[in-house]
Amino acid sequence: RAKEMGNNNFQFYAREMNASVEEKLMLLEGLRGALDEGQFHLLYQPKVDLRSGLIFGVEALIRWEHPEHGVVSPLRFIGLAEESGLIVAIGDWVLHTACRQNKAWQDAGLAPITMSVNVSPRQFEEKRLVERVAAALRESALDPGALELEVTESLIMRDLAQSVGKMRELKAMGISLSIDDFGTGYSSLSALKSFPISTLKIDKSFVRELADNTDDQAIAMAVISLGHKLNLRVIAEGVETEQQCTFLRDNDCDEMQGYLFSRPVPAAQIAALLEEQARMQSGCDHPGAGAY
Ligand code: C2E
Ligand code: MG
Ligand code: MG
Ligand code: MG
Repeated sequence: RAKEMGNNNFQFYAREMNASVEEKLMLLEGLRGALDEGQFHLLYQPKVDLRSGLIFGVEALIRWEHPEHGVVSPLRFIGLAEESGLIVAIGDWVLHTACRQNKAWQDAGLAPITMSVNVSPRQFEEKRLVERVAAALRESALDPGALELEVTESLIMRDLAQSVGKMRELKAMGISLSIDDFGTGYSSLSALKSFPISTLKIDKSFVRELADNTDDQAIAMAVISLGHKLNLRVIAEGVETEQQCTFLRDNDCDEMQGYLFSRPVPAAQIAALLEEQARMQSGCDHPGAGAY
């Protein structure tokens, strides 16, 4: 709790400073040693099937525990990591850690789930991306089918032909791909058709006012029907209220992710949620149920 407060204070402070040069330099300096110092960790946010209500996957979200400023949001440092090129090493660490974690859950006998990892532009464009992903899978012994990469439209559009080529290679390895923040980028519909992806993720900016903004409702419905017509699954991010969830379910959205179900949490809490889910399904939560 105290940590969370510290984090928020820092974010407000940072926003007020309008990401001054000094602040950037300070963060950049810290960022250089952060990996070696073990200052990063991952949180995992459940992705839930809207029909069954079951967790089928999680998204890995990085956190940086700054020695002086507490937890720094990725919104503040991923951009810097991109600019400085540090993202390649950080991204590698995320891939390896996330793959290893998913394998550990499987080895503990939990129901298999998909691990989604965010990939940023510079990381995606790096020559050896495909090899790096393959190495993380090999090292962790995780089935490629249990890994998904989240990329953005703007990332793909930077070099469409090359991006689609890389995406095809990844898909051929058995990894799935999703488009994050869909609707906020610049991909044309004809480009979308060529993406070897399995899921569209409706950006949370369209979900926020879903309960009463008819424009956002129209956009959400259009993305869902577009996705389904292209044989894709559609997930909504940033779902915080029952009303948003009901609207999405009523309009045939497949999956959701958001504070309503769970915030991003440490690995142990995901294991607990999966165990609880397994107990509910086998009926062990209701002693006596077995008698009927
Ligand atoms: P994203 O991939 O679009 O992730 C969704 C963000 O929304 C996450 O913020 C998540 O904590 C937040 N979120 C989830 N549910 C809700 C909700 O119900 N309401 C609201 N208001 N927010 C919700 P987070 O963790 O701060 O990450 C921000 C962005 O930083 C991510 O956006 C992603 O672009 C980037 N990021 C995070 N981790 C990594 C990483 O390991 N590698 C790279 N390259 N980028 C990352
Ligand atoms: Mg994401
Ligand atoms: Mg997103
Ligand atoms: Mg987003």
